[in-house]
Amino acid sequence: MSKRPKPLILQKYEALTPRIPQNFPRLSEIQYELAKSHKGYIGEIKVDYYLSMLAQRYTILPDVCLKVNGQTFQIDNLLITDHAIYLIEVKNYNGKIIFNTILNQFTRDDGENETGFHHPITQVEFQQIKLQNWLQERSLLNRPIYYLIAISNPETIIEVIGNQEAIAKVVARGEHIPKKIMDIEQSLTDRSTLPHQKLGYEIKRECINFDKDIMAKHGVKMSDLLPGVQCPECGRLGMERIYANWLCPRCNKHSKHAHKRAIYDYLLCSGNAISNKECMRFLKINSRSLATRLLQSSNLAYQKEHKIWIKLK
Ligand SMILES: [Zn+2]
Repeated sequence: MSKRPKPLILQKYEALTPRIPQNFPRLSEIQYELAKSHKGYIGEIKVDYYLSMLAQRYTILPDVCLKVNGQTFQIDNLLITDHAIYLIEVKNYNGKIIFNTILNQFTRDDGENETGFHHPITQVEFQQIKLQNWLQERSLLNRPIYYLIAISNPETIIEVIGNQEAIAKVVARGEHIPKKIMDIEQSLTDRSTLPHQKLGYEIKRECINFDKDIMAKHGVKMSDLLPGVQCPECGRLGMERIYANWLCPRCNKHSKHAHKRAIYDYLLCSGNAISNKECMRFLKINSRSLATRLLQSSNLAYQKEHKIWIKLK
């Protein structure tokens, strides 16, 4: 089982949030999205722990993102066996969640408010259809696709109004997912001619990195961002360059490489390119040649015709 990398969107929010000025009108919306994607990632790692029990038998692909008919779709986990494919979505909810099968409605009650949410089963059904289409286009649709919803927070209370059995078939706490998969596997007898490793390889080969322009989403421009090198110790922006070191005027921390994080953050926000001039402004340094040296040592490639530095693949 390959280790789950930190999602690009979460990396982007981590880079962006500390650089948004306190008086930026949409700051709280950005902070909310950061907290949400961080919580989602932690939940996914919790469920990975349980899924890893099956990693020796089957192919498990975390964070699968594919394109079909010009649309991108993303799946938290794909588990592939010789008999079937399991699409496992991880959901993180506080408080109580209520599935109402009579009204086909899904709500969450956090003790204060009852809020309507996108129905997680409808969402996962759409993903199932998209995955079916993707496989069909490549003549790889040769085993059934099941879906499961893993509730990652052990404190979430799951309530069902109506058909409990139907919900229990697809919704379970993270720790119960492996047993659910094993039970379905035992009921299946048809074996595909394409081994799970091969199908896993075919899917992985076409996976793309799920991306979103979060700057545009929240109406942030590069010029809105607070410049400065961030102190790895206390988080303050504005380390000062003293000789060949960065020094934090608040906590006195020294760092040789703190600029790398700042340059990386800039690239995450800007869409992968930085000019020498922008680097000087962003790191708050006055020397052109120092900027060039720092960019050179940051694993970037220089594009002469556009006079910019871009991230190496
Ligand atoms: Zn500091």
